[in-house]
Amino acid sequence: MINLIACQFKYTPGKDNVVADMVSRYPIINVNEQAVHEMNNIDEDDEFPLDFKVISHHQITNNMLKQSMIANPKLYQTKFVNNIKLIFFKNKVVLPSSLVQSVVSWYHDNLNHPGIQRTFETINMHFTCKGLRRIVETHVSSCPICIKQKISNKQYGHLPPSTAIYRPWECVHIDLFGPLTF
Ligand SMILES: [Zn+2]
Repeated sequence: MINLIACQFKYTPGKDNVVADMVSRYPIINVNEQAVHEMNNIDEDDEFPLDFKVISHHQITNNMLKQSMIANPKLYQTKFVNNIKLIFFKNKVVLPSSLVQSVVSWYHDNLNHPGIQRTFETINMHFTCKGLRRIVETHVSSCPICIKQKISNKQYGHLPPSTAIYRPWECVHIDLFGPLTF
């Protein structure tokens, strides 16, 4: 589709790009940096919660998850995704307690503050953890932006879960305009 349009791709460094787009601002660590970045050196204040390495690091270092895996080994599966070992429960990535809050917060903020049900269902498409719905409920109902924006209790029906795109170029949208007739 994009081949049909005579377009040019031009790189503009972030500092020169005043009107930033999604691709130039997204916190993806490039492959070379990632290779250098040892798992033990992850800066937990500045980590991207959906990075597979970050998830893996939290899974491996979480004692509660470790104990639960020892007690119920058949409930968990270990798979390698992009050469990174991840722990799954019923085909969903297990969110350790140390990471769940940042994931909920990331989804809720980046999906533009959807309600409890939509935030939960979107996260639950790929992730799971004990008490996830309750954690989402607590987060969304105490979100200051949502509280401010909530103007009435009118119900408008349920919205479907949104598919969150979390890697640049995973999905490309094109707006077409015209043809113009005068
Ligand atoms: Zn909110």
